[in-house]
Amino acid sequence: MGDVTLEHVSKHYDDVTAVDDMNLDIDDGEFICLVGPSGCGKSTTMEMIAGLTIPSEGKMFIGDREVTNLPPKDRGVAMVFQNIALFPHMDVYDNISFGLRLRNYDKEEIERRVERAAEIVQLQGMLERMPDEMSGGQRQRVAIARAIVRNPGVFLMDEPLANLDAKLRVHMRTELQRLHKELDTTIIYVTHDQAEAMTMSDRIAVIDSGQLQQIDPPLVCYNEPANLFVAGFIGSPSMNFLDGEVAADGFSSTNIDVEFDPADLGVEPGTDVTMGIRPEDVYLVDEESLVSNPSHRIDAVTDVLEPMGDEIFVYLKLSESAETDLEDTSGVANDQLLMSVAPDTDIAEDEDVTVVLDRSRVHLFDTATGEAISHGIETPVQTSGAPGTEAESDD
Ligand code: ADP
Repeated sequence: MGDVTLEHVSKHYDDVTAVDDMNLDIDDGEFICLVGPSGCGKSTTMEMIAGLTIPSEGKMFIGDREVTNLPPKDRGVAMVFQNIALFPHMDVYDNISFGLRLRNYDKEEIERRVERAAEIVQLQGMLERMPDEMSGGQRQRVAIARAIVRNPGVFLMDEPLANLDAKLRVHMRTELQRLHKELDTTIIYVTHDQAEAMTMSDRIAVIDSGQLQQIDPPLVCYNEPANLFVAGFIGSPSMNFLDGEVAADGFSSTNIDVEFDPADLGVEPGTDVTMGIRPEDVYLVDEESLVSNPSHRIDAVTDVLEPMGDEIFVYLKLSESAETDLEDTSGVANDQLLMSVAPDTDIAEDEDVTVVLDRSRVHLFDTATGEAISHGIETPVQTSGAPGTEAESDD
């Protein structure tokens, strides 16, 4: 009933392609987040599903019905927007029931639906309040209740929490998850806040320049990003990227090499590759634990430290000339590495340190196409104590 399918859907505005050949298969009851940078086509995708914008090409289905050219009211979808437009002169009951009254539902049916919706969003006892007597979060719940009473097969939510303060946003996230469980309805949710996407959705659809980059459960996008864009977009702070090439014995770059047999990964020596490693997969080690695998050591100097409470971000310089730019920590930097360490770690700025990478968490991408080559590099089994044995980590 609430399955949503987009087949080769595009939307062009003059010379702008807002959505480019999008294919989506959303199952009934799924909670899907559309994420991506501003202008990537999230809202346009949503508006096309709602019927507010007609695609230039492609077909759309909701359930087994083709809806490509159907008006919004015939699609069985309800939308909740970022800007909550409640009628200021109507109380909560009238605001929630407005659409039903307009469609001449009988009084008892309206009462039954409003009561159920109020219960789901926990607004019982507030039905006689006026909008200006409510908090931002409560008003947003009225807007959601107004969508619920329509019994839609699909909920479309476009940044519904964007105007709420940080604490309320976190609270409303939990409420939306509860709501989804209770209603068991498809929810398609647009957000640029990846914490929202990671915590709430069954699957995340990552979009860039109107094109779908990956659609997978949050942890798959995090652990096995399909390409450089997804790897850099999902995760905060961003993954470290270093450009290099495949040498006869593995990845080789200005300051960091990672040994492996190129044949194992099916890459030709000479290929330009970008290595990615997340800050939490870089480990501080002491000389003693390095005795068995000197080839894995990376010597660095600590630069800026950012204590976050539950972890410390340590900006490492891999060369004398490296400069930490806190304004822009995304993208490729061959002489820097961001590491995350436990909050009680004894570490200071301008200190010589040695770190290792968790090889099982090293990502390799084809620099030319951006496509992922591998996630994690197996460490060959070696005789004990021989160089190349895996470093100890507490992972
Ligand atoms: P997002 O929601 O991800 O921020 P949008 O879907 O709003 O992105 O926009 C995608 C692209 O399409 C942007 O470049 C935007 O400027 C363009 N666009 C969106 N709506 C229109 C429109 N009505 N006319 C012209 N260009 C538009």
